[in-house]
Amino acid sequence: MKHILIGFLLTLFGAPTYAQNSPLTFGGGEYEVPHTEDNCLSDEDRDAIRAQLRINVEQLRVDGKLTSSGDREDVQFIWPLQKATGFEWNSYYGISNYVDQNPTPALGDYYCNERTYDGHKGTDIFTWPFPWYMYENDLVEVIAGEEGVIINKADGFEDDHCDCYGSWNAIYVQHADGSVAWYGHMKSGSLTEKEVGESVVEGEFLGVVASSGCSSGPHLHLEVYDSEGNLIDPYAGDCNDLNADSWWEDQAENRVPTLNTILTHDATPEHGCPLVNEDPHMSNDFYSGDEVFTAFYFHDGLAGTTFDCRIKMPDGTVWNDWSFTIGTTYNASWWYWSWFLPEEGPNGVWTLEADYEGETIVHEFNYGVYVGVDDWTDKEVKIIPNPSSTNLIEIVGVPVENEIYFYDATGKLVKHISNSTQLEIGDISAGLYYVTIQSSNGQLLVEKFVKN
Ligand SMILES: [Zn+2]
Repeated sequence: MKHILIGFLLTLFGAPTYAQNSPLTFGGGEYEVPHTEDNCLSDEDRDAIRAQLRINVEQLRVDGKLTSSGDREDVQFIWPLQKATGFEWNSYYGISNYVDQNPTPALGDYYCNERTYDGHKGTDIFTWPFPWYMYENDLVEVIAGEEGVIINKADGFEDDHCDCYGSWNAIYVQHADGSVAWYGHMKSGSLTEKEVGESVVEGEFLGVVASSGCSSGPHLHLEVYDSEGNLIDPYAGDCNDLNADSWWEDQAENRVPTLNTILTHDATPEHGCPLVNEDPHMSNDFYSGDEVFTAFYFHDGLAGTTFDCRIKMPDGTVWNDWSFTIGTTYNASWWYWSWFLPEEGPNGVWTLEADYEGETIVHEFNYGVYVGVDDWTDKEVKIIPNPSSTNLIEIVGVPVENEIYFYDATGKLVKHISNSTQLEIGDISAGLYYVTIQSSNGQLLVEKFVKN
C-alpha cells in the first residue's frame, strides 16, 4: 500500500478534517477555464453577422414573418441551457465571462468585478466538469431563453477545438420587441431543424453546447441586442452602464455556490482540451485493492464555505466522513481524495455523499461485486413485482439460460438460482437485495430488489 505525504497540500487549498480513515492522496483546486488569444467573436465577424441579420430581417418583414409589436418588458430570459433527458448531475456549468462594460483595456463587469475579458460582448457559460465528455454525449442543450423568430442560423463548422478556428455554429432569435439574442459556439449538426423565419417558444431546443468558432472549450456565448441594435448586458447591477434593468426573468446572484456533481474514478481525473487531454477516468466498479478516487466538482465555490463528505457502506453505516473548507473563491474548482476500502468488504453498493449549501448530493458505486449501477446493457430487464410482498417473482427480459444471484445489503450471497425466470423467494427475509443476473453470453446485470 502506498501512502503519499499530503500535508504540504493541505495549507494550499483549505482545511480538511478526517474522522476515521486517512486518504491515500488528496488534491484539486481551481479549474481554470482556458482562454483563447482572441475574443469569442472578432469585430470583423460581428460586423458580418450584423449585416446578414439586417438583410434577413428586411426579407422576413417583407414576407410577413416578422412583426415587432411587443414591449421591452415582455422579453425576459429563462436560463438558456438545460440537461439532456436522463443526465442526472446536480449542475453542469459555471460562468467564466460576463459582458465587459469597460471601454478601455481595463476590465469591468456588471457587478463591478472583472469576471470578463477585454471587449467581451456576451455572457460565457461553460460546461463543467468534463466538458468534452458532455459534448461527446450531447448532455447539455442550448434552449431559447425567450420566444421569438429565428432570423439566421449557421451550422456545419468544426466544433471540437480549443482555440480560434473557423466560424461558430449559432442561432439568432428576434423577440417580439425587436431585440435579438445570439446563441453561439454550438455543435455541428446539432442545431434545430427549424428554418430561418420559423418561431421558437421559450425553452425550445436550439442545439448542443460545443466549441465551434473562436472558443477554448465547450461553452455558450449569449449576446443580446435591443431593438435599436444597442448591446445589452442581461444582468442588472451597479456597474451595468448599458441598461438599467435585468433581462432575466429571475436574475441569479452573482455567485451561486453549487456542488455540480460528485463522482468516483479509478485514477486521478485529467481535465484538458480537447478529448485527447481530458480523461475523466470515471468508474463505478471497484474491487479489493483498487484505489477509489472520490471527487467533488463545484462552480462558484466560495472561500470559507465548507462541504461535508461521507462514504457509506452498503448497509448505510458510515465508513468515513470528513469535511473541507474552501480556501479561495473560484468560478470552477474540484477536490479529490483517494482511498483503499477495507479488504474484507462488505461488498455491494457503496454510497458517496456530500452536503454543500443546503443540498445533499449522492453517488453510488460498486465495491467487490460487479453490479453495474450505470452499466445497463439491456434496459428491458425487470423484476416483477418490485418491491414484492409475494414469494413468487418473475425476471423478464433475460434469457432462460441464466444464473441469478441474490446479494443482501451487506454483499453476502443469500440465494443462487439457475436457468429460471420464475423465482420462488419464500426462503429469503424481507430487505434490500442486489440481484445479479448472468446471462449465457456472460453478461452481468443487476437490479435492486426489495422484499417486503
Ligand atoms: Zn463569449
